[in-house]
Amino acid sequence: MIQLGDPIETGGIELRYNCPFCLKRNGTEDTGWHLYMNPEKIINSIAGVFFCQRCGARGSANKLFNIKTEDPPAHKWSEIISRFLHPELHAPVSTAISMPDGVRPVRPNTQAGDYLTSRAISLDTAIFYEMMDWPERQRIIIPIKEHGKLVYWVARSYNGQEPKYLNPKGVPRRSVLFNIDHAGQQDTLVVAEGIISAIAIGRSAIATLSKMITPRQIELIADSKSPNIITCLDPDAINEAVDLCRDLRPFKNVRIAVLPVGSDPADLSYEVLKQVLDTAPVYNDWLGMMARLNGGLNGTEFQYPTVGSHHER
Ligand SMILES: [Zn+2]
Repeated sequence: MIQLGDPIETGGIELRYNCPFCLKRNGTEDTGWHLYMNPEKIINSIAGVFFCQRCGARGSANKLFNIKTEDPPAHKWSEIISRFLHPELHAPVSTAISMPDGVRPVRPNTQAGDYLTSRAISLDTAIFYEMMDWPERQRIIIPIKEHGKLVYWVARSYNGQEPKYLNPKGVPRRSVLFNIDHAGQQDTLVVAEGIISAIAIGRSAIATLSKMITPRQIELIADSKSPNIITCLDPDAINEAVDLCRDLRPFKNVRIAVLPVGSDPADLSYEVLKQVLDTAPVYNDWLGMMARLNGGLNGTEFQYPTVGSHHER
């Protein structure tokens, strides 16, 4: 890959680089400093932080610097700007791991098979997600892959044993997305929080495994082939869903599915889930509606809608 080199500073905080994407997109190298980037914007959003006036390449700083960050939570960009400017400090990409010994395909009429049935997960579905039985530990083990490589797994006990979930040691959970390989190829990708929720929603759904969504996870979604995104986090994660929509909006058509308070997508019927997803409003429309409900848009500075006591100030 062509090195960006030292940028030229323009007025304000904008930086200009020779675009590393021009050669591929335009046939010839950029030598005229056509790529603009505003590091300050990273603080508020990963949105469109670089743009090449010559070849039209645009995207996040991660893409520009080919950085795969792992741990910093989304919206803590100020802390990692220095990492963007010092690519030698990159955190590594997810590394391939292996399944524990002794796992085998789930068979019907076993404890593992019965557990899946009790969660309304068919054997076909188990095969699709490559779920395995780990009889020695009495767990269903669910692989998480990236570009076909196993990068994480989650092992759910099926006999009530604690802890409910086991994970591989020393592997960062917060940099992976369940089912991104498949869902990232679909026309509409749904972002859920838990794996069982994602499975309940269907094969175009991914799971973030946490409501704290990391920049690397946002990158993976932003870089997916899916033009349309519906966020469908758990109902107590409305603020995180708003942040996620905001970060994805420059890259994707974003809708926000708001589940009934107190509900868990894994417990909702297929019909209810389908209804919620089919009628999920476009994020911008929803934002406007929430702002009006909060008495906003009256000339005062716009506030993102929040839940609970935050807007009672
Ligand atoms: Zn370019």
